[in-house]
Amino acid sequence: MTARKIHDVAVVGAGPAGLATALGLLAQGISTALITGPERRADHRTTALLDGSVRILEGFGVWDKLVQEAAPLRDMRIADATKRLVRAPEVTFRSAEIGLEAFGYNLENDKLRNVLLEAAQGYETLTLLRTSVTSLEVGPDAATLHLEEGEPVLARLVVGADGRSSIVRKTAGISLRSHAYPQVAFTATVAHTRPHEDTSTEFHTPTGPFTLVPLSGDRSGIVCVVKESDAHHLMSLDDTALAQEMERRASSILGAFTMLPGRGSFPLGAETAVSLHAPRIALVGEAAHIMPPIGAQGLNLGLRDADVLVRLVSQAARKGQDVGAVDLLSQYERERRGDIEGRMRAVDLLNRSLLSDFLPLQGARGFGMYMLDRVGPLRRFLMRMGVGERAA
Ligand SMILES: Cc1cc2nc3c(=O)[nH]c(=O)nc-3n(C[C@H](O)[C@H](O)[C@H](O)COP(=O)(O)OP(=O)(O)OC[C@H]3O[C@@H](n4cnc5c(N)ncnc54)[C@H](O)[C@@H]3O)c2cc1C
Repeated sequence: MTARKIHDVAVVGAGPAGLATALGLLAQGISTALITGPERRADHRTTALLDGSVRILEGFGVWDKLVQEAAPLRDMRIADATKRLVRAPEVTFRSAEIGLEAFGYNLENDKLRNVLLEAAQGYETLTLLRTSVTSLEVGPDAATLHLEEGEPVLARLVVGADGRSSIVRKTAGISLRSHAYPQVAFTATVAHTRPHEDTSTEFHTPTGPFTLVPLSGDRSGIVCVVKESDAHHLMSLDDTALAQEMERRASSILGAFTMLPGRGSFPLGAETAVSLHAPRIALVGEAAHIMPPIGAQGLNLGLRDADVLVRLVSQAARKGQDVGAVDLLSQYERERRGDIEGRMRAVDLLNRSLLSDFLPLQGARGFGMYMLDRVGPLRRFLMRMGVGERAA
């Protein structure tokens, strides 16, 4: 009997985090098996990829293809629509202030995934398996992945990129810290009669942000954070009534709306894996952390996971070291933990300040926005943090 091939890395899950990780590894000459999971349904959501992610995807050699599908986010406007006693001033952040052409770029999730998959398929060193992992065993030299169809796959390192219900995370016995919010994100896409001028607008409402994010042409993605009952109501409206309701919530700043296909409703929660690694296993993307869709941080965080892991694995491979070694995985945890926890706290604080009727907290948010409007260095520091730079 011939010995089975041992891959350097097996990536489980072909969502955007898994695809980006596989692509980054392949670009570094690492032999990679990608186990896609079940065929995905159409995903009409859009994702804003901030400047830090653009740099990562440039490094993975795929940005020039993605940018053709994306709309730039040059300015970001935040308006207080809470109608509370203490209201924050309207603030507009301009990417030019921090020397960027755009804070980031927004594109449809399906386009993002298709471009990443096509790019990964361009590498002969990719083993693409269109099936699911059913179980996983970890041995001293390699992990064995059992699949729904076909022979088991062996790898020195397993990357769990299999999303919020990650089988890799569960099998590794890694638990989650979870927090549910009393809100739901309603998502839709609209065409509008006025141009968005590459500006995203976030209205802060008492139930959460209502955000319009530019897409190519006169189109925008909407993420509307509301109470569950309101989300049910929005889901039940016909296209004409929904367009009118969305336009009202947008104060008609983009003119009249027409609904485009696809709407969705996502309960808000925050979940963090208590560890990002286990023997021969590393978690990336939503297998490791789920964020509320506020401030476009979720996948941007997942791409930074991919970036760090690709760097550590390729360094080890160049030195002829084990790419699934404990030291490497502990280093991955050290480099990623602070960023993940910090972003979780920032998004949580912003969300709580919107929901809270506690006057001092509303005052603090109003004061914070006032300071952001007036104090240049603070503004620029936060803009840089927002697009994915790390604090010195
Ligand atoms: C409304 C909303 C708006 C958002 N907007 C933004 C934004 O603007 N910017 C941003 O950065 N983030 C945003 N996010 C977050 C972003 O969508 C997620 O972070 C991202 O989609 C997660 O990608 P992933 O690859 O980790 O997981 P997923 O996309 O869930 O992919 C996991 C994959 O694993 C596969 N899989 C599952 N089980 C198995 C198995 N047993 N074997 C093999 N494969 C398996 C699945 O089929 C799937 O393809 C938003 C989220 C929401 C809800």
